[in-house]
Amino acid sequence: MNEVVCPECGEKMKSSGRRSRKVLHAEGEVKIERGYHRCPECGRGIFPLDRRLHLTRRSWTPATILQALRMSVEIPSYGRAAAQFSELTHVGQSKSSLQELVKF
Ligand SMILES: [Zn+2]
Repeated sequence: MNEVVCPECGEKMKSSGRRSRKVLHAEGEVKIERGYHRCPECGRGIFPLDRRLHLTRRSWTPATILQALRMSVEIPSYGRAAAQFSELTHVGQSKSSLQELVKF
């Protein structure tokens, strides 16, 4: 098994069980379960798989985020962009969450 090193202090992290989360993608939603690692030194916890997949705290994959951003740029109305986005991706998407996303 690969060693996980703390991004904060460089200490070896300890496996601390598995947690599940939901990930939204263009075809809908999937539930994934992945290992959680905790740093005994500074207490920081990470999910190595999330990092590998570039998942953020939000349940969005990078492809979905990119798609949403592209749409927001092309459609000069968040409301309409959100509606179109939901139609295309089957992922419920509100005007405010799209607006929030664009701020990143
Ligand atoms: Zn640490």
